[in-house]
Parts: sequence; C-alpha cells; structure tokens
Amino acid sequence: MNKDIATPVRTKEILKKYGFSFKKSLGQNFLIDTNILKRIVDHANLTEESGAIEIGPGIGALTEQLAKSSKKVAAFEIDQRLLPILSDTLSPYDNVNIIHGDVLKADVKRVVEEEFAGFPDLMVVANLPYYVTTPIILKLLSENLPIRGIVCMLQKEVADRIAAKPGTKEYGSLSIAIQYYTEAETVMIVPKTVFMPQPNVDSAVIRLTKRVKPIVEVLDEDFFFVVTRASFAQRRKTILNNLTSQLQDGKTKKELILAALEASGVEPSRRGETLSIEEFGRLSDALLPNFK
Ligand code: SAM
Repeated sequence: MNKDIATPVRTKEILKKYGFSFKKSLGQNFLIDTNILKRIVDHANLTEESGAIEIGPGIGALTEQLAKSSKKVAAFEIDQRLLPILSDTLSPYDNVNIIHGDVLKADVKRVVEEEFAGFPDLMVVANLPYYVTTPIILKLLSENLPIRGIVCMLQKEVADRIAAKPGTKEYGSLSIAIQYYTEAETVMIVPKTVFMPQPNVDSAVIRLTKRVKPIVEVLDEDFFFVVTRASFAQRRKTILNNLTSQLQDGKTKKELILAALEASGVEPSRRGETLSIEEFGRLSDALLPNFK
C-alpha cells in the first residue's frame, strides 16, 4: 500500500513528477498533514454506507481519506492539470469519481441523482478554495440537495461570521443566511503550517448540519434575505435607518416600516446585529405585503 498522499515528502514527490505549479487564483493550498485530514473526516461522521461530495480534490489528499471512510466519493475539480495526477494518486481506490468543472456552474443536483441514488446518507466534505467559500456554501444549501450537512475548511474569519450569535460583531447577513438552513459550529482551528503553500490567513473547519425544518417559517424566503441584507447595510445605523434607505421606496414608506417594526416587536432604534433570526422572520413577514 502506498504512503498517504498528505505528507510533505509524498506531496513534493507528486508535484515534482508532474511539474505542477500552484495557481493562487484557484485557491490552491494543499493539505500535507494526514492527522488533520482524518480529524476533518471524523467530524463528518461517515459510515460505510455514506456518500461524500468533495469540492476541489487537488492532488487527492482529502479524497483518499474520504474514499477509505465512505462508500463512494464524487469530487468536483476545476483545474484540468490535476486530472491526470488524480487518476494516478487515487488509482488504489475504485470508489472515487472526479468530475471536471467549476462547482459553481455545475448541476450538482443532477450529479447527486446520478452518483448517489439510493444512498441513505450524503455529506459534503471539502477544503474549500478560499476565493469562493461563501458562494459555494450558499449554492449547496440553497439548492435543497439531499445532504445531511457540510464539513469544510475555510478562512477562520469567515467561519467566525458563519457561526456567529446575535449581539456579536461577527453576526451579520452571512450568519443568518447559513444558520437559516443549518446549525453551524466551528469544530477545529487549523494552523497555516499544515498547508502547501501556506495561506496568508488562519483557517478553521466548520460543521453545518442541515435543519429538518428552517429555524423560522417565513412567507417568502427571498424577501427574508433581502430584509436581512438591508438591515446590515451600514452596521452602525439603526434598523429603521437601514430599512428606510435600503428597501424600495423606503423613504416614502417610513410609516409602514415603523408599523411593521412595531407589529414584530422590534424597537426602531435597535441595530440589525441585535436581532435574532426569529425576529428577522417576523419582521420580514410584517414588511412583505407593502414591499414586495
Ligand atoms: N482538497 C485538496 C487538499 O485539501 O489538499 C485541495 C484543496 S485546495 C484549498 C482547493 C481546490 O479547489 C484546488 O484543487 C482548486 O483547483 C479547486 N477549485 C478552485 N476553484 C474551484 C471551483 N470553482 N470548482 C471546483 N474546484 C475548484
């Protein structure tokens, strides 16, 4: 059996063999520590019946650990230069399918139907490319895929915002967009030294577990997200000022905004960062008839 891919020596060997040079623009920071990879996979609680979707397999460091811990892995990789490398490094595993392409443009739902029909459990596990972490996570959550959740490595600063609670400076529309669909928790803080090349920022692993039911039932999801984004447009402004300046015709409809705030039990002088997701839900439903 070959040595694990994710050691500094083996990674260097593979890169040298193929003359591979990292593309910063594709967020290529590969993991070179098998223990960290095993801990990431442990947080996904996979069984031998599970399916795993990976975004950005690189040279296969995480893919290999997923192949050992699940029934099947499907991995989206944008960089064509990595395809021959992956078919070499992952040749010991017959349960991996690499899909060439940009995950943001891919029909992930169709891939799930084709690759994982009948699977009782499906998780996304990834060391994400940092230039597109939030678009990828939001795409995977908003498309209503039959996944149990996502375990992924990303910038610590973004992990802090995703998992933030009301009343903290990290809490904002991103926290709400993700916690609306999932329970979010930071499960690991990861040092720069386990990457090649080392990124400029600190990293963390978050686990997002899909809620069976959304945290709040709202009348119109899209409008709920419009209201939350509007409420944080300028963090130092009150919720009333943000909504009047951001909502369509907000200035002329200030009285209607005040009435909606009152109906949902939110003081107009509060700031967006103090509202719970439930309060945003009530507020969005109260605003909806006059602003959509
Ligand atoms: N999984 C590997 C590891 O942990 O060592 C590599 C992770 S590296 C941080 C991110 C990977 O995502 C790179 O292989 C990069 O080429 C790939 N990638 C970047 N943008 C992508 C996109 N839009 N769709 C699919 N893969 C992408």
